[in-house]
Amino acid sequence: MAVLNYTESSRKVEEAIYDRVIPSGEGWMHELEPGQVLRIVDLEGNQAADTLFYHAEDPEDHYSAVATMLGQKNIYLSTGTVLRSESNKELLKIVADTCGRHDTLGGACSAQSNTVRYAHDTLPMHNCRDTFMLQLSKYDERYTKRDLAPNINFFMNVPVTSDGGLTFADGVSAPGRYVEVQSIVKTVALISNCPQLNNPCNAYNPTPVRVLIWDK
Ligand SMILES: [Zn+2]
Repeated sequence: MAVLNYTESSRKVEEAIYDRVIPSGEGWMHELEPGQVLRIVDLEGNQAADTLFYHAEDPEDHYSAVATMLGQKNIYLSTGTVLRSESNKELLKIVADTCGRHDTLGGACSAQSNTVRYAHDTLPMHNCRDTFMLQLSKYDERYTKRDLAPNINFFMNVPVTSDGGLTFADGVSAPGRYVEVQSIVKTVALISNCPQLNNPCNAYNPTPVRVLIWDK
């Protein structure tokens, strides 16, 4: 496995302007001004925080996994990664990361992927796609189902094998590990704190994440 890239933050929790816990299975959607920093904390370890970002002035120009990977010539996200939009605009940058690696290939879980990956009787189980849709529908009428896109899985370890396959491996995160992204333009963050009960990545036990925001 490639060397993991750890960068601690000097930001102090007591100076954050926003602090909230997102229970597993719940979502969160929030605007970030240019320069603001969002920290996502994996409170209990090996949780997946499925995340999308939108250009606030032009929501159709959402996060692009392809533009981001091409821009940095690396499939894994960590400190220094610029998160790019469909039109290749710089939306945000990862400025701290104590997990060391995040996935943007595995996508979000859905009723359909659950039945393919696990068993047909998982069909009615709550999933990230449902959480994304619910958050988009509540936030603003400019956002619809059409605005779902391939996402980031913060804290998830999805190594690509030498023959090009994807493996959902044991997590590399741990309790208290975090990632920070700093907005370059005004963006909207959308998180589904994954409710997945069928995946060894999170030891079949989804747990809460904490989100904090600083003005810079
Ligand atoms: Zn999920």
